[in-house]
Amino acid sequence: MNFDLTPEQSDLRDAVSALGRRYGHDYFIAKAKAGEHTTELWAEAGKLGYLGVSIPTEYGGGGGGITDLTIVCEELSATGSPLLLLVVSPAIVATILAKHGTEAQRTEFLPRLADGSLLIAFAITEPEAGSNFHRLGTVARRDGDEWVLNGRKCFISGVDHADYVMVVARTADAATGRLVPALFLVPTDAAGLTKSKLDMEIVSPEKQWLLYLDDVRLPADALVGDGDAGLPALFAGLNPERITVAAMSAGTGRYALERASRYTATRQVWGRPIGTHQGVAHPLAHAAIQVELARLMVYKAATLYDQGRDLEAGVAANMAKYATADAAALAVDTAIQAHGGNGMTTDYGVATLLGAVRAGRIAPVSREMILNFVSQHVLGQEKSY
Ligand SMILES: Cc1cc2nc3c(=O)[nH]c(=O)nc-3n(C[C@H](O)[C@H](O)[C@H](O)COP(=O)(O)OP(=O)(O)OC[C@H]3O[C@@H](n4cnc5c(N)ncnc54)[C@H](O)[C@@H]3O)c2cc1C
Repeated sequence: MNFDLTPEQSDLRDAVSALGRRYGHDYFIAKAKAGEHTTELWAEAGKLGYLGVSIPTEYGGGGGGITDLTIVCEELSATGSPLLLLVVSPAIVATILAKHGTEAQRTEFLPRLADGSLLIAFAITEPEAGSNFHRLGTVARRDGDEWVLNGRKCFISGVDHADYVMVVARTADAATGRLVPALFLVPTDAAGLTKSKLDMEIVSPEKQWLLYLDDVRLPADALVGDGDAGLPALFAGLNPERITVAAMSAGTGRYALERASRYTATRQVWGRPIGTHQGVAHPLAHAAIQVELARLMVYKAATLYDQGRDLEAGVAANMAKYATADAAALAVDTAIQAHGGNGMTTDYGVATLLGAVRAGRIAPVSREMILNFVSQHVLGQEKSY
């Protein structure tokens, strides 16, 4: 058992942290409140190779694994910039294309995903289906050389500045006629694709959107991979998604605790720093323990995934996602408390994360669905739904 990062991974961690600190949480929040995107940070991270760390070198990436992308996600979050689109574009979409895209798709999309010049959102959630992916109602019909997509998606992050959105739809299986999942690359300016913004109580530059697909016509090669790629391609995105989301929560927890520790070490109310009161320090110490425990599971999941041990990685990724979401929510809440009234101000940069850490217990998979997964696959209980 080795808990050390490789020298390259250590350097990556330090370099990403330095980049994140140069921008800082104030930059992230200013962009969010102005309705703008973190374009400069994204572009710089792309140029330095951080967005493409897990993309194969032959397609312009760093040739590393999900562990490397996990480091990027955690460190940017730990410096106050939890960039949600890291989870979508490099973690989900690039992994799916690298593993299941056609050669033409890999060549066309991966180099630009690696340098950050191309953004691809990901759309699976639907208003009617919710967590039950078997009820997906977005359907792709073949019409001559084209695909025609119809359906609705909700909560889709970042569509407003993405170039494409990878849409999970269903098509009729050629042999059986049954509807099976299929993934499509839909340009965000495609005719028939419209969107409306959801008002969310989350301070983030990435907004969530409702998407309407009305007779969206796509060329044959918009289908990701070949006709049979659908389900394996979809599953290929799940573990990287959960691991990188978990890394962002862990990083956010670290960020909140760092802010709180700095504050409690200097703020004096009774003639000495408030951190000397155990009633202030112990809850922070407890949260630090929860964050560190959860982080261990994140890196276990990433390591298993990079070793190709997908089933074990799936269990660890779900557990990591569950544990980090709880730890981050606890860390942010505890950090606010330690700041007193200042904790609720924008300037102190902690309450700004409340919405995001709360959402971490819901998306991309809710804590209840993870408990269902663990009940079934770890404890051997019968499926109840
Ligand atoms: C900030 C944010 C960003 C998002 N970004 C994206 C994105 O980019 N792309 C995308 O496709 N989606 C995105 N989502 C959607 C997200 O993945 C879903 O919200 C999530 O999967 C839960 O689905 P739902 O909202 O339909 O909840 P529902 O499925 O309606 O569930 C409601 C509640 O019931 C519980 N529940 C449901 N079924 C069961 C069961 N069998 N047993 C026990 N409890 C159950 C759930 O746990 C939940 O608490 C985002 C959501 C948020 C909040």
